[in-house]
Amino acid sequence: MAPKPTPRTPIRELPAYVPGRRAADKWKLSSNENPAPPSAAVMTAIADAAADVNRYPDMGLEEITQAIAAFHGVSPAQVAVGSGSIAVLEDLLQAYCEAGDEVVFPWRSFEAYPIAVQVTGATAVKVPLTPDARHDLPALRAAITDRTKVVLLCSPNNPTGPVLTQEEVHAFLDDVPRRVLVLLDEAYYEYRTQPDAVDGSTLVADYPNLVVLRTFSKAYGLPGLRVGYGLAHPDVVAAVRATSTAFAVNALAQRAAVAALADRATAMETVGQTVAERDRVLAAVRTAGWEVPDAQGNFFWLPLGRDALRFAADAEAAGFLVRAFAGDGVRITIGEKEANDAVIELLRTWH
Ligand SMILES: *Cc1c(COP(=O)(O)O)cnc(C)c1O
Repeated sequence: MAPKPTPRTPIRELPAYVPGRRAADKWKLSSNENPAPPSAAVMTAIADAAADVNRYPDMGLEEITQAIAAFHGVSPAQVAVGSGSIAVLEDLLQAYCEAGDEVVFPWRSFEAYPIAVQVTGATAVKVPLTPDARHDLPALRAAITDRTKVVLLCSPNNPTGPVLTQEEVHAFLDDVPRRVLVLLDEAYYEYRTQPDAVDGSTLVADYPNLVVLRTFSKAYGLPGLRVGYGLAHPDVVAAVRATSTAFAVNALAQRAAVAALADRATAMETVGQTVAERDRVLAAVRTAGWEVPDAQGNFFWLPLGRDALRFAADAEAAGFLVRAFAGDGVRITIGEKEANDAVIELLRTWH
């Protein structure tokens, strides 16, 4: 056989990311999307930006960085904007990790974590969740070794739903060596209603090793445009910027995100509707006898074990798509009211 070009070993052995299924004639409850379209102001901003796409986007991301910094009351040097918060996570891992390093994270959590870690050549150290589907913080702490570069936390945790509390994260950060980066992924920040849920943005000033991730993909309803950001110490932000792809955040995305932040109230109305629907669905599903972990995002988790794939097929037949994790469980997004009704109906009778 002729020799052929070979990717690095960790790339050859990458697990595939499984995207949420889509089908035109089914409710799509498989990708935690906001069912509401962007606001009129955001759509106008996108249309206006279309007239300038013969020009490169602002490479310095100045306007969007300023807007996010102003919103959080931090310096622009503490804001790293990326083409989705996942890109910020990837850039951060690229900047800090290489073969021989370890990245500790809870499992099950976001599918993208093990892939992003493996691309760097670092070793993923997965720490099982507690029986109530929460992060096991003492076990995460105990998993930190001399080789650990980064710990990933996710609140609310995708796909299981519970949050970390402010006190828990505070105590964890006090306990973790300062040479270890702690990345707190708050993709679903806007949906959480538990009063003591963590708000990572309030901790960044005190912990130079903390990175908080937020996104325009969920509450703001812009996953198709790809914008997210990290809040961190300027040194960490500089490292993320150094590894990011030039011009990665396109011009439409930059302008849409600025408009979405300025029109935040409209997005938060859609979040309020989703939260009300979430509470309605969870109450109905629990009344029907299901044990569901606390759900603080725009989704909930059914720990179905080996029945996960069978349930997903029955859901599709009933008109909606879910995200199934074979042998583990199913994540169902809170969507349009009719879609949620279909979910409740199936869960009342399914066995
Ligand atoms: C959806 C999601 C994101 C968002 O990714 P983007 O790249 O910003 O679209 C990040 N983290 C978690 C846990 C998510 O579920």
